[in-house]
This record gives sequence, structure tokens and C-alpha cells, in this order.
Amino acid sequence: MANNLNFNKGTICVQGGYNPKSGEARILPIYQSTTYKYDDPDEVAALFDLKAEGHMYSRISNPTVAAFEEKINGLEGGVGALSLASGQSAVALSILNVCKNGDHIVAASTLYGGTFSLFSTTLKRFGISVTFVNPDSSEKEIFNCCNDNTRAIFGETIGNPGLNILDFEKFSKVAKKTGVPFIVDNTLATPYLCNPLKHGANIVIHSTTKYIDGHATSLGGIIVDGGNFDWKNGKYPDFTEPDLSYHGIKYAETFQNAAYIVKARVQLLRDLGPCTSPFNAFLLNLGAETLHLRMERHSYNALKLGEFLEKHEKVNWVNYPLLESHDSYLLAKKYLPKGASGILTFGVKGGIEAGKQFIRNLKLATLVVHLGDARTTVIHPASTTHRQLNEEEQLSSGVTSDLIRISVGIEDIEDIIKDFDEALKKLD
Ligand SMILES: *Cc1c(COP(=O)(O)O)cnc(C)c1O
Repeated sequence: MANNLNFNKGTICVQGGYNPKSGEARILPIYQSTTYKYDDPDEVAALFDLKAEGHMYSRISNPTVAAFEEKINGLEGGVGALSLASGQSAVALSILNVCKNGDHIVAASTLYGGTFSLFSTTLKRFGISVTFVNPDSSEKEIFNCCNDNTRAIFGETIGNPGLNILDFEKFSKVAKKTGVPFIVDNTLATPYLCNPLKHGANIVIHSTTKYIDGHATSLGGIIVDGGNFDWKNGKYPDFTEPDLSYHGIKYAETFQNAAYIVKARVQLLRDLGPCTSPFNAFLLNLGAETLHLRMERHSYNALKLGEFLEKHEKVNWVNYPLLESHDSYLLAKKYLPKGASGILTFGVKGGIEAGKQFIRNLKLATLVVHLGDARTTVIHPASTTHRQLNEEEQLSSGVTSDLIRISVGIEDIEDIIKDFDEALKKLD
């Protein structure tokens, strides 16, 4: 394979997406160039008409970014990927590519905060309405939330902050029955631990800022197209009718099963512009080279820390999908057999003040508004990210005053456990 994609995941992580010819740079070069040189105007005309493949302007595509896209596409098993400036832009474009004013989506209610406000506030201003469903609802209840204008169903592999695991089978059945794509945010699980396309998803997105980068250096997002949805089913005229901004090209006809990802690039990325910088793509790609190793260690450490905290006298409760006490334990066993990633939440005895003091007491783990870093980090949502909400609103979003969210890093687990034990013991 030209791009080293015909291997197992660990090999794709290390070598996928870039395969230099004899004499070329061994390491993916940073093509820090906005533009590309051509010999003949007809070549450029063919690019503009989407009749030839090639780079034209780095808002639309760039060789460094393209190699990173190929790697993630290979890891997810898709037909094409589009790297974007942030996870937020990936979520936004994944929806805008199939919805316009008057359309509707159904989303699991247990979403990342930024996605929740995008759906509830900004998409609403665009005229796209959203029904949030409790992910524990039955197939019938979720189906009943769909209407004639529904154009997508959206969920996250691992929900936030409850860490509930998406019931892919149930949601994908509803999407099939409704005739709309099932879009899954796979950020917390990563393509190493879970491939939503194998479980009925049609489109997968990531905030690559998190585990794929893995070192808290670069913002990024990506959309992967499964190539497994029929855009000619009558609900998606933008895929079947001529696009006048490209001399009347019809995406579904011309690009077949890659219609979704081509359209997202040449319409939405062209017009809205949230592209990945080549330098960030280089760093994201470097991070992805060790994704397989890090996810194994993140998952191992999180489970060990969870088992330790469950027995601690200063701890009210622990939430981790692969602990038998978790509501999603069976779904986690089914969909995350290799591990349940590095996010864990627990309740510290003594409420809000104890939560703050616990964080002050930590020495190794640090307070940051981020997750997925190689370093162990913590946050106390009630006093930080969710402090604008009153207690009732906090509770309905799953945030209790005692909740501490940990992004368990890849340090030595003995040191992590010692840090948490000492910080908890110092509470009075
Ligand atoms: C962080 C995150 C996002 C948003 O990504 P950014 O890169 O911060 O824009 C979306 N979904 C999930 C699940 C996230 O964790």
C-alpha cells in the first residue's frame, strides 16, 4: 500500500499515511506553504473543476495535513478524512454537511459541553433544531424523537461526565430505520480502542486535540467518512442536485461513496475555512505515532486507580466504565475490549470545599481544563467549568459538588496512586 495502511493498528499509528520514495525525507515533512506551483493554467483549471487531484491552496488541502488525514482514516477504516482546526469545527461541519435551515437532528443528551452548546444555541440560530434524548431510552423512544426533517443522529462513544458507553446497536438501528447517518464523536475512546464504523456508524469525528495529539500541544479535529451511507435516498438533495459553485457537479454521482467527505472539504472547508496548520498536523501526526502504546497505558492506569479509589475511605463513589460497579460495564466489555481510556471520575467526601482542597493537595497531578494528555490532570467541575450553573442545573448535567474528573496519564501507576492517596489523607 502506498500509504502503509494495510497493516494492524499499531503499525498504522507508527508508519501510516506517509511513505517516502528513495531519497526523500524519512520523517513527514512540514510543508509550510500556503500555495503550490503549476506549469500550465489548464492544470489549475482542472483542480478548480475538481477534475484532477492535487493541492492548490492550503485552506483546502496540504501534503502534511493529508498524510495525517490518511493515518487517522486508516485507523478508523474509512474512505476519507478531513482534518480541521479543532474538535469543535469537526462537530460543526459534520452536521452542517447534512443539515440546512429547517432540518433537525437527534442527539444523545450526555455530550461534551462545547458540543451541547453548539447544538442548543448556535445550530438553533442557524435554524437547525435538536432533540436531546436520554441515551438509556428505548429504541422506540429514540425513533419517536425523529421526524420528517431529521437528517442525522449523533452520539459520543464515551459520554461526558457520566462516562456512559454508547449503545451503538440501538442508535444505529434507529438511524437506519430513519434513513439518516449515525455520526459518532469517538474522541475519548480513540480509534485504537474503538472503531464506530464497525458498529453501524456512518461518520466518525474526533477532537484530535486530546489523545491523538496526546501531549497537549495542538488543537485539531477530524471527520472520517465511513463511505457506507446512501445519500441518494431522497433526503439529501445537496448530494444529488448540481452544486452551482462547481459548475453543477453532483457529489453522490461524481464521488460515489466518498461524496460526504469531498463535499465537506470543497464546500464547507472552502467557505468557512477552519483548516489545520501544517505545523499542527506535523505535531498531531507525531502524537498519533504512539497512540496505541499510550491508550494501553492510559486504560491500565485508569482501571488501577479506579480500583484503588473504590476502596478509599475518603471516597464516596468511583465512575469508570470497566469497573463492575458502572452502569455501562456490559457495554464497555462489548465495545471497548482493549480498555476504556483514561478518564475517570470520583466523589470526594466533604463536597465542594473538600474537592478544592484535594486538588490543592496534589503534587504530581495538576489542575488543567483539558484531557487526554500524557500527564495526569484533574479538574473539579463544580468550582470551575460548571460554576456558572446553579446546583440544580449542575445536577441535571451530571455534575455533583463532590465530583472530581481525572484524566489519568501514562506515568508510573504507583506514583499516581501515592499522589492521590496522600492528597486524600490530608483532608480532614
Ligand atoms: C474536546 C472535545 C471536543 C471539542 O474539541 P476541541 O478540539 O477542544 O475544539 C469535542 N468532543 C469531545 C468529546 C471533546 O472531548
